Amino acid sequence: MIIVCPSCHAKNRVPEEKIESQPSCGQCHQPLIPLAPIELNEQNFSTFVTHSDLPILIDLWAEWCGPCKMMAPHFAEVAKHNPKVIFAKIDTEANPRLSSAFNVRSIPTLVLMNKTNELARISGALRANQLQEWLDQQLNAHS
Ligand SMILES: [Zn+2]
Repeated sequence: MIIVCPSCHAKNRVPEEKIESQPSCGQCHQPLIPLAPIELNEQNFSTFVTHSDLPILIDLWAEWCGPCKMMAPHFAEVAKHNPKVIFAKIDTEANPRLSSAFNVRSIPTLVLMNKTNELARISGALRANQLQEWLDQQLNAHS
């Protein structure tokens, strides 16, 4: 599988059986799948979604949004337990073109992607258990 390094954006080839054993980047030696959300923006977004072979769950949020802040620790918590999904955050204020490309109507919105295909989305703040349940359902539906 190809995993794009969140630190240096090098493309790494990782055998599927090693995905869950915390692989690190061949170039910069940082964790390839940090068990914490990464930041995507208009500069690195397309590299990530085009080249990553793992599904990506994106949290579209903004600084002024109370429910987004409420959900953030839950999103981070679920990220720890899902090494086969890349968790990412996009600040909609700082990235207006991405925000309009996603046609975001309300935040927080979660979008699950596989490469450039949107598999599912859900709006509104979720707690960790709700988020995990929704994610499992979507992954099962698309596997
Ligand atoms: Zn790297």
